Amino acid sequence: MFIKKQRLLTPGPTPLYPPALHAMMASDMHHRTEDFRKVYRACLADLKEVMGTANDVLMFAASGTGAMDASVSNLFSKGDKVIVCVAGKFGERWRDIVKAYGLDATVLTVPYGQAVPVAQVEAALAAEPATKGVFVQASETSTGAAHDVRAMGLAVAKTDAIFVVDAITGLGTMPLDIDGWGLDVVIGGSQKAFMIPPGLAFMSISPKAWKLGETGNLPHYYFNLKKEKKSGDAGESSWTPATSLILALGEALKYVKSIGMAELIQNAEMLARATRLAAERLGLELFSASSPGSSVTAITAPAGMDSSVIVKEFRSRFGSIIANGQGEMKGKIFRIAHLGYFDFSDLFAMLASLEIILNANGYPVPLGTGVAAAQEVYMQAAKK
Ligand SMILES: *Cc1c(COP(=O)(O)O)cnc(C)c1O
Repeated sequence: MFIKKQRLLTPGPTPLYPPALHAMMASDMHHRTEDFRKVYRACLADLKEVMGTANDVLMFAASGTGAMDASVSNLFSKGDKVIVCVAGKFGERWRDIVKAYGLDATVLTVPYGQAVPVAQVEAALAAEPATKGVFVQASETSTGAAHDVRAMGLAVAKTDAIFVVDAITGLGTMPLDIDGWGLDVVIGGSQKAFMIPPGLAFMSISPKAWKLGETGNLPHYYFNLKKEKKSGDAGESSWTPATSLILALGEALKYVKSIGMAELIQNAEMLARATRLAAERLGLELFSASSPGSSVTAITAPAGMDSSVIVKEFRSRFGSIIANGQGEMKGKIFRIAHLGYFDFSDLFAMLASLEIILNANGYPVPLGTGVAAAQEVYMQAAKK
């Protein structure tokens, strides 16, 4: 028998920042008081600061999908022509949401593991000048691929369409110049790089998006962006807020501000780079080799090995929870997260565990191969 600490190593929920977790204990607080308004105002201001935008930023008591839903129901009209980029399970979610609200979608689909090329978005925009919106994932968490949202944003900015970016795992893992690149709507979620539990969604909204929303005719009630903006300006949420999570967010944002958003992003990028090098040295294939992002690295299980075995053994041998593939990728890939409160020690341990699991399941690798690769990346980065 060995002690097995539970380690949450998934791309949402992610490891919690301890002071944020402790802050949740002060949630015996009423939300219509000055004490709470102070916290709420600080959260909205700090979110705006770490997102690096002059656009309005709103917060919702919902998982990330709630804000995705709200962006469609508040800004668009029935029958609007839109373009949806689908590179994985979360792109499919955009496709399903716009379909549910009766939008007229041109769906640009690429095989799992790839990213939608910018040229394809440009061609679709040129083919339909009446396009009202373009939907994409900055980081497609199900495959580990990242989209070139900079080039896409600059292309969409030349048209009347708004660019709606699910950056739920993009925020804090890749540079996103919201205002400079024309990212009209940017959506985030608390359980990703924000280091707190699930239950809060964030959204930034540009003047161009607000303008489109003025003519929107889709039904909505709970998620009302205009109402939420008005409430937010008064330091409150429209409905009863997720008080405990907001207290946690306040602490987490203080931490992110203290290290700097750019450093948080670089941390994820370094861990991702180290993971890719480790995979290569272990003879493992990256699932999104052509456009790997830094929020999560998806690795294809060795031929003849079910990735569910790897996921199960992480849990049974080491108490660690890692992500399997979703949908038809289940059993084929496993995913290693880098977003938020992850450090090199987490990665060293996870790679050491992986090597043991591979050896125990008919894929012999010299012990220490992947760990050494990650150590090299650390040593190089630490020199600078
Ligand atoms: C986690 C995630 C979501 C949101 O999922 P919820 O379960 O609603 O929080 C959406 N898009 C991406 C890319 C994600 O990683």
